[in-house]
Amino acid sequence: PPALFTLGEAMAVAAAIQPGPLATGAPLRLGWAGAEATVAIGVSRLGHRAAWTGRTGEDAAGAMVLAGLRAEGVDVSGARTEPAVPTGLMLRERRTADRLRVTYYRAGLAGSRLAPGDLDEVRLAGSRILHVTGITPALSATARAAVERAVVVARAAGVTVSFDVNHRERLWSRAEAAEVLGRLLPYADIVFAGPEEATLFVPEDQPDRMARALTRFGPGQAVLKLGARGALVVAGDEVHVQDAVPVTAVDPVGAGDAFVSGYLAAVLDGSPVRERLRLAALCGAFAVSVPGDWEGLPRRAELALLGAQDISR
Ligand code: ATP
Repeated sequence: PPALFTLGEAMAVAAAIQPGPLATGAPLRLGWAGAEATVAIGVSRLGHRAAWTGRTGEDAAGAMVLAGLRAEGVDVSGARTEPAVPTGLMLRERRTADRLRVTYYRAGLAGSRLAPGDLDEVRLAGSRILHVTGITPALSATARAAVERAVVVARAAGVTVSFDVNHRERLWSRAEAAEVLGRLLPYADIVFAGPEEATLFVPEDQPDRMARALTRFGPGQAVLKLGARGALVVAGDEVHVQDAVPVTAVDPVGAGDAFVSGYLAAVLDGSPVRERLRLAALCGAFAVSVPGDWEGLPRRAELALLGAQDISR
């Protein structure tokens, strides 16, 4: 069985190569992205088996997603292909040198058709960590039901549940997100959130208080992601802060998922909270240093490139 089990949506990304409006026509580079898939790749590169469940279309984009995951050693035996529904697409325009404009074509498409019946519950129950995000429950009623079923199965089997709030304001309102994701929160052993996301559930305005307040819903570890300011964890009575690893940031997208992959890989390593945070911050730094959401994720032997000589398994 995989060490990490995750489920979600993955889609093609058509990204402008140069700054400028796409409306007049422009060269694009085709890739793909998906929050949970990024976490699966990160964990796999760090040496732990990961499995991804989701639906893709029977098209070039779907083939690209599945081939990409397979090439990274991610188990896609639980993925399904939709014969008549295309894979989703994200169009990434660089309207100016440093202002991105992103358009999604995903509603009703293959990724949103994920349903509880897609889950291989035996494999899920045999894994060590289930990772879910707040994106998938926002996609459709069936995708939401799949995530809700997954956390119930994991909890009953004693599988550690990791939950990245990942609120996507284009998919639903704050009120709806707070209600649906608030019901997932008590199932989580580890919750990841940014400060804005934490305020979906708690009134506090300081990161350490936010994290502490999040743990009152049930999670034993609450991890606040603070971008270039680093991160903070409340775990029981312990509070740990972590500075970001200084790098030249060229693409902030995907930092959060990279960070989560490092944290979860360290949990699988059996490392203490301090080391989880350090590996997480290193992975976040690798991700922001490179264009693309998952391409820049580190392998174990590469961690030393950003000055982490002493991290090994
Ligand atoms: P996204 O949704 O854009 O993927 P996020 O908001 O979930 O990201 P961030 O808090 O932006 O997550 O980033 C996660 C982690 O990545 C941070 O805690 C930090 O360790 C690392 N990180 C982010 N930005 C930078 C940066 N500019 N330089 C170095 N490390 C960074």
